[in-house]
Amino acid sequence: MTALLNASPELIAASDKVIGRVHIDHKMASRLIDVQDPATGLVIAQVPDTGVEGALEAVTVAHRAGRSWAGTTTRHRADVLRRWFDLLIDNADDIAMLITREMGKPLVEARAEVTYGSDFVRWYAEEAVRPGGNVRDLPTGGARLLTRRAPVGLSVLITPWNFPLAMATRKIAPALAAGCAVVVKPAALTPLTTYFAVQLAVEAGVPADLIQVISTEDPSAFSTAVLQDPRVRKVSFTGSTGVGKVLLKLAAENVLKSSMELGGNAPLIVFDDANLQRAVDGTFAAKMRNGGQSCIAANRIFVQDGVADEFVATLTEKMSRVSTGHGLAPGVGLGPLIDDRAVASMKRLVQEAIAAGADLRTGGEAIRDSSGHFFEATLLDHVPASVQAATTEIFGPVAAVQRFKSEDEVVERANDTAFGLAGYVFTESLDRAFNVADRLETGLVGINQGIPSNAAAPFGGLKQSGLGREGSGEGLEEYQEIRFYNLATHATA
Ligand code: NAD
Repeated sequence: MTALLNASPELIAASDKVIGRVHIDHKMASRLIDVQDPATGLVIAQVPDTGVEGALEAVTVAHRAGRSWAGTTTRHRADVLRRWFDLLIDNADDIAMLITREMGKPLVEARAEVTYGSDFVRWYAEEAVRPGGNVRDLPTGGARLLTRRAPVGLSVLITPWNFPLAMATRKIAPALAAGCAVVVKPAALTPLTTYFAVQLAVEAGVPADLIQVISTEDPSAFSTAVLQDPRVRKVSFTGSTGVGKVLLKLAAENVLKSSMELGGNAPLIVFDDANLQRAVDGTFAAKMRNGGQSCIAANRIFVQDGVADEFVATLTEKMSRVSTGHGLAPGVGLGPLIDDRAVASMKRLVQEAIAAGADLRTGGEAIRDSSGHFFEATLLDHVPASVQAATTEIFGPVAAVQRFKSEDEVVERANDTAFGLAGYVFTESLDRAFNVADRLETGLVGINQGIPSNAAAPFGGLKQSGLGREGSGEGLEEYQEIRFYNLATHATA
């Protein structure tokens, strides 16, 4: 049984101090929501449940503030965003501690999330002054068509618990850059990071009313009320495909511009001609980052027969060396899962796969010597294609390896899913890398690497993994509407 590493009382006390820096106004609360440390199960803070009334009040306040923000110059918005970026970086250690305490990931990964999440703010500080637009001649003459990109209007942003900072900044920063006000609803499990990041945004010069943070344990009542409000013009959601479908139906009622970053089921393919160490390291990163709780986590690991035994042995060795424990404890590589349901789900997946013939190479058990939610880093080999570990999004530290013979066969198996967010290819052949990447039905492909996302790239899924893109110039367009003016250049009737 794996022994857990614990955080020292000094580090816990230091992170408690950071939690004390988060200003939370309990006045709006109809009741309070407990925020827990998933590594201990202990309550570390309480945030208000704003209820439907509070959410609608937030819409009113943000809508009003949005009118003047839309009229600010793009240079002003860029400067404010740049100051926000600087404050995020100045406070990186504190934000990382907050992320680790409420979400559980190891502190080094929380630091990496601060870098990644802040980068969206810097990127959109740079993009704000380039909103786009152009001039065209009417093909039949007599007029010019001027297009401009205007802010879409009040945007409702709903984020998940797995990247509490990055999923928020990836939406808030382009919305502000485009000239929109926002109502942001973080997951009730991890609201503290969003409250703190928004507090820093206000310190940087964002008008306090412009970003409204709503925490609630009744997200369905929230979205039903808020998305029907005619002042709302946009919904951007990151989370599960099931909830995304519900939100799209609500958005249809109000004909809202919609961005959906939904679930994944990423294939990761290792060919015989891959650089083996690179493939193992890339697979480990793509699987184990965030304890496997990432929408682009390597979900189905396909390894070609000629290299499979060596690949599995090397990856097993690496996975069995992972230290598990509280994310604040030095040396921890795997923190807790977000809750007990996640632990139970890992257990079910693993048991089902073993019963169906998969070989357990390492891990496979929940760790029960604390009240936190831990599961061992696990590797299953020879996973049958029919079991849940091969068909559904695992969302935990379980690597499920299947084997394959030919390129055509693996591409067909990789695409045999309703999801299409990320894919990964490991090969030393340039031809094969691009052929397979082109044939994979996914919005993004990591070629010989396991962490493909960054602020400069248009992140998003195909098929049931989503609509729209986040990051890059395309991410700004999600918060804009194209308008055109027809300017007569001759007298017309
Ligand atoms: P979830 O769908 O349960 O929750 C996400 C957010 O939606 C939370 O804030 C939750 O409170 C809220 N929510 C739930 N029901 C709602 C409703 N009816 N109306 C309004 N809001 C509602 O997902 P989760 O468990 O928090 O996150 C895991 C899922 O998110 C995985 O499927 C993962 O793949 C996906 N995800 C996708 C991306 C991406 O960019 N594509 C990124 C991270 C996570």
